[in-house]
Amino acid sequence: MAILHPDLQDIYDVVLQRNAGEAEFHQAVHEVLDSLGPVVAKHPEYTNAAIIQRMCEPERQIIFRVPWVDDKGVTQLNRGFRVEFNSALGPYKGGLRFHPSVYLGIVKFLGFEQIFKNSLTGLPIGGGKGGSDFDPKGRSDAEIMRFCQSFMTELYRHIGEHTDVPAGDIGVGGREIGYLFGQYKRITNRYESGVLTGKGLSWGGSLVRTEATGYGVVFFAEEILKTRGESFDGKRVVVSGSGNVAIYAVQKVHQLGGKVVAVSDSSGYIVDEDGIDLDLLKDVKEVRRARIEEYVKQRPQARFITGSTIWNVPCDIAIPCATQNELNGDDAKVLAYNGCTIVAEGANMPCSPDAVKVFAETGITFAPGKAANAGGVATSGLEMQQNASRDSWTFEYTENRLQEIMRGVHDRCLETADDYGVPGSYTAGANIAGFIKVADAMLALGV
Ligand code: GLU
Repeated sequence: MAILHPDLQDIYDVVLQRNAGEAEFHQAVHEVLDSLGPVVAKHPEYTNAAIIQRMCEPERQIIFRVPWVDDKGVTQLNRGFRVEFNSALGPYKGGLRFHPSVYLGIVKFLGFEQIFKNSLTGLPIGGGKGGSDFDPKGRSDAEIMRFCQSFMTELYRHIGEHTDVPAGDIGVGGREIGYLFGQYKRITNRYESGVLTGKGLSWGGSLVRTEATGYGVVFFAEEILKTRGESFDGKRVVVSGSGNVAIYAVQKVHQLGGKVVAVSDSSGYIVDEDGIDLDLLKDVKEVRRARIEEYVKQRPQARFITGSTIWNVPCDIAIPCATQNELNGDDAKVLAYNGCTIVAEGANMPCSPDAVKVFAETGITFAPGKAANAGGVATSGLEMQQNASRDSWTFEYTENRLQEIMRGVHDRCLETADDYGVPGSYTAGANIAGFIKVADAMLALGV
């Protein structure tokens, strides 16, 4: 790991002590602190007000019991979390993740990232995240509903359109948001549309929200290409994952003239040299909720590969959209060897610190998730705006707003990187620009 500025090392040591065993949270904090050396040097006021220490400590952490009854009549038990990390810019905002790997350290890493990401969008939203160790895999629709209802039976008292606004993440999509919103409405007797985002279109949702994270990461990569006078036209792209982020990243790459040749799930990956057939992929993953291997049964020219990594597939641009630390240093070396020049993170922290180091050494342009995948939460912000004004915008208008926001995030990263003497570093630019806006708000609001 890189050596930190001595003041920041002291802060990091306290974070390690206070949050023992939470490796992903440590990694996310270290990655941000690593960029803040020039900020500490320039802004003693932040140090005097202990802004960085305060930003590393969640304002509130909620852990709760989630009991529910499965289809066999057996009572099951899970743990629920909501970490309300920082509300200097607006209500806590961030998704809910339902996955067996979820524990406090994962929720804290995601909530911490969310502070900077949300700040970068330019919208008035704070940072938070939640979830559960519940595994939706193989569960019936009725089981998902009962779990969501039980989860909300505790969560409702902590959230609200001006307090904390959850949305989806891994394992939580439109169906789950529907069951969660229904239960919130039942308990509170309020049609409070702005309490959750990612809602269905007929009950307060926003057009483009479903597509937003995937479209956004591709818009961000397009901005990088523009700085080189290039476009997606004719580019070979690899997108890991096959969930909501990956699917709409594939769609946007194809719309912009590129070709996605591989996608994956936890069982392996598929290579389709003719370009991924999006209708088939959506049918396999969204309608049938099946393994990705099903894709090749209907596409003889495609191959299913297991026991290897998708990053072995040669590409010009890589867009990791699966999960944290899915792309390591060795993968990064293979990407560089095969001529990849851009890695844009669609997921949260999919590239390990070793991978990021290799990108820098080999000249790969790296766009960190907190900037590149901000389109999802940005469009959640647009959904909140529509809810507040009891309006609903057209697809075209909303997509244009999303694209403008992604351009803004991109330009803010580059300008800030320049200002702080690290030209071209999207990582430093994202961390510093995201940090400063929140830090200034915290200073203004007092201790
Ligand atoms: N889970 C998404 C993210 O990682 C979206 C959160 C939201 O829309 O609030 O940014």
